[in-house]
Amino acid sequence: YDYTKYNTMDEISAWMNQMERENPDVVSSMIYGQTYENRNIALLKIGLNSTTPKKAVWMDCGIHAREWIVKLLLNMDGYIYSWIDNTTRLWRKSRSPGTGNCTCFGTDLNRNFYANWGMVGISRKCCLEIYNGPSALSEQEAKAITEFLGMHQNQLLCYLTIHSYGQLILVPYGHPNISAPNYDELMEVGLAAVKAIESVHGKSYKVGSSPDVLICLKQCILNFKSAAITVTATLWTTLTALWISSTNVI
Ligand SMILES: [Zn+2]
Repeated sequence: YDYTKYNTMDEISAWMNQMERENPDVVSSMIYGQTYENRNIALLKIGLNSTTPKKAVWMDCGIHAREWIVKLLLNMDGYIYSWIDNTTRLWRKSRSPGTGNCTCFGTDLNRNFYANWGMVGISRKCCLEIYNGPSALSEQEAKAITEFLGMHQNQLLCYLTIHSYGQLILVPYGHPNISAPNYDELMEVGLAAVKAIESVHGKSYKVGSSPDVLICLKQCILNFKSAAITVTATLWTTLTALWISSTNVI
């Protein structure tokens, strides 16, 4: 597996299998859902076996198809589509067909979660890149995460969702007028992460809620093509998982 290039879906799947095979004490896998095109969505569980209960950190990647830097893809249908040719390279959404009269494909999975669904930073136009779907959790991929995390809600310590957009650590919510109840705690963790990244990699990250950090939000989305490779993360501790995913407005 070559870490210095982008990898196809098949290469990523083979890498996941290899990780599990070579590290049986630490890595195990599990299928927790299916995509619209019936691909299995798998997770890798990383951790030593323990007799005492442990908290988990959830990390998902690849919710946006074109953000190729990530691994462990959620939006596999979109990812495979983005590999077809230059005309599909910047595909972002899922691959489910439009409903009603709409002939366009795909929902922005990141805008399909049910927390404050459809409130800000979305479009109701099915052909647009930030279309939030016919209803909350209309997409199987968003549903799979929501249901899985719903079942493990009490075990979760932290939720990270990885994008490739800017050197940013975003905390909930992605709403200009609503702050997370534990906003101060999230910022404290985010600022500590910024410091740690800086000291190890010398990269400077910004931390804040998306309306605070992404002042040019709509413009930024439109200008995505020129964006650099980076990571954003949503942090949470005491909130429910189901809230969090929908707070990422990137
Ligand atoms: Zn993204």
